[in-house]
Amino acid sequence: MKDFKSSIPENFEIKIKNQVISRNNFTLIAGPCTIENYDDLLTIVNKLKKLGIKFFRGGAYKMRTSPYKFQGLGQKGLEYMRRVSAETGMISVSEVIAPEDVETVSNNIDILQVGTRNMHNYRLLKRLGEIDNPVILKRGMSSTIEEWLFAAEHIIAAGNSQVILCERGIRTFENFTRNTLDISAIPAVRSLSNLPVLIDPSHSSGRRDMIKSLSWAAMAAGADGLMIETHFSPDTTVCDSEQTIDFPMLETIISPLNDIVAKLWNKKGI
Ligand code: PEP
Ligand code: MN
Repeated sequence: MKDFKSSIPENFEIKIKNQVISRNNFTLIAGPCTIENYDDLLTIVNKLKKLGIKFFRGGAYKMRTSPYKFQGLGQKGLEYMRRVSAETGMISVSEVIAPEDVETVSNNIDILQVGTRNMHNYRLLKRLGEIDNPVILKRGMSSTIEEWLFAAEHIIAAGNSQVILCERGIRTFENFTRNTLDISAIPAVRSLSNLPVLIDPSHSSGRRDMIKSLSWAAMAAGADGLMIETHFSPDTTVCDSEQTIDFPMLETIISPLNDIVAKLWNKKGI
């Protein structure tokens, strides 16, 4: 296998606003699957801020399996993300789905996300190599770890080394869960690469009742962060409601976080 460590130095840090994403920090990103309106987004982000969280997510462009389902607010969603970020000082994360959208998304959003369905979209990856924003690269649902690391190389080789990997579950024969969370991807990435790696327990399980266990498993296994779909009213959200958790659950998940990541991995918590 290629030596992926040679592309990125050890103790590599991604600095965004006053925060650092790295192997020595734990990064927590939470927020709704999709942005529905300005007021709800602001309410959610203020609640996250109160919990000490610095990063929020929200989809403006959605890659939905069905073309008949809500596809996101698009440009309007980006504008809501930008305004909420300016008002709260929180760092925004949102997905970009096409090379031609990279410029507008990068002008409105702090960290751009590549979704699982686009991990192999090399033109999109190359375009993301030309911007200054950090990029969260989700693992393709049927991709090997090597293919995922090569996808990251496409962004790095094109000029942007600020790549954050995110394991979000892979396709297996099991259908009790939406996907199968590959916890072994964490130690694998740690040994093969110097990039930080996050876990997304939401899209991997597709089940609200598993988010706590999988999040704690990720912390214990050495993940550098989590991205969790969260809303004040999960049952009434238009997208991924079954896997979205509420704020009391998020608080439960966070409560042992700083102790676990400091004791087991010597990482700075949130
Ligand atoms: C998301 O995080 O909003 C998303 C669509 O995730 P994935 O690409 O992993 O399905
Ligand atoms: Mn979702």
